[in-house]
Amino acid sequence: MLTTLSILLNAAKQEKKAVGAFNVYNLETILAVVEAANRLKSPVILSFGEGYFTHAPVEIIASIVKEICTPLDIQVALHLDHAKELKSIARAIRAGFTSVMYDGSALPLSENIQKTKYIVEYAHAVGVSVEGELGYMNNEDGTCEEGLDLEKGYTRVQDAAAYVNGTGIDALAVAVGNAHGIYKGTPTLDFARLDEIARAATVPIVLHGCSGIPDDYIKKAVSLGVAKINVNTEISTGAVMAAREFLAKNTEKGLRFETLLMDARHTMSATVERFIKLLS
Ligand SMILES: [Zn+2]
Repeated sequence: MLTTLSILLNAAKQEKKAVGAFNVYNLETILAVVEAANRLKSPVILSFGEGYFTHAPVEIIASIVKEICTPLDIQVALHLDHAKELKSIARAIRAGFTSVMYDGSALPLSENIQKTKYIVEYAHAVGVSVEGELGYMNNEDGTCEEGLDLEKGYTRVQDAAAYVNGTGIDALAVAVGNAHGIYKGTPTLDFARLDEIARAATVPIVLHGCSGIPDDYIKKAVSLGVAKINVNTEISTGAVMAAREFLAKNTEKGLRFETLLMDARHTMSATVERFIKLLS
């Protein structure tokens, strides 16, 4: 069944657990995530980014997710990831999303608070949860602007309480050394900062860019109050690697596209399953 982000994350936080949020772009990715969660009888978050609106209409994604997930016994939140435009948020909510992220992280604090508060009032009026972001990471596609100093973008503890209290958000995404895309080396997370932010913010904390963060770091982050773990790159690039291997092994002319998709789907589902097991 579909439920809100707020219900999933508050329950997870109480149990000192986290729920995995996995990015989906089409039918195969949705099935890969839902099948893994259903096998493990685990709640799960399906994330569809504003940046994917050109790949698939948000209304179609919502219809597929509702059709697949409504009859299931597990709890699923359908979440709009990294939305910067109110019109995207309005479209997602109208389509049936149960949760939205407003990403005002590049704005000055006061403007981020003002705009996030507006979105929260808009979304809460129709029972939809809102995730906000404080601190600045690199681009969602894993690229980094020239000269961007990630450490300068770390979430500041003193801003966290002001942002949460000033907006009424349900979950707070933070920047503490995590980044989108593929890490160059082993990432370092500022756990002391994360601990202070989690205490100051009181709402469940969200960690973006978890592909490539060592498992024990993720577990420690969860113990400090992180209740939502975002995974995108590892699933997407893993599917491409699997497709490459599959094509190298299967060179016959009559190879079918649907066979390739099925293989990639199984690979993605196995990655999702690994993360869900890590978090439970
Ligand atoms: Zn993100």
